[in-house]
Amino acid sequence: MQLVVSFAWSAAHRLPRYMGRCYRMHGHDYRLEVVVQGVPDGRTGMVVDFHEVQDAVSPLVQRLDHSCFNDVLENPTAEAIVVWIWRAVAPELSSLVELRLWETADCHVVYRGEDVPDALVAPGAPGEHPDSSGEE
Ligand SMILES: [Zn+2]
Repeated sequence: MQLVVSFAWSAAHRLPRYMGRCYRMHGHDYRLEVVVQGVPDGRTGMVVDFHEVQDAVSPLVQRLDHSCFNDVLENPTAEAIVVWIWRAVAPELSSLVELRLWETADCHVVYRGEDVPDALVAPGAPGEHPDSSGEE
């Protein structure tokens, strides 16, 4: 059985290798679904306590809210962000099986821990956003 817990936050990013408008700094209302899987316990009736999932992921989401993904990832595509989030929360959630990350209402990525090129999650440079004006 699978349980799904949703999270939402707003953040900025720019795609430095993209030829088009996503090269420029812009923002999204991100939505994340965290999928955990297991067999319901015969006594508690639960696979995992929903609060356990919330406690494992909420600190990260609070840190990301109103931040810039280029501070943590060199090329923060949705694909890179979902892998980065997986690596941050998987150690806290042994029952994690899938993450779904929405960048817009129509577009999302699904990640199940597959191998990816190391370059995908190359670290970013905090505060260095050549296309941002520095205005708050
Ligand atoms: Zn974007």
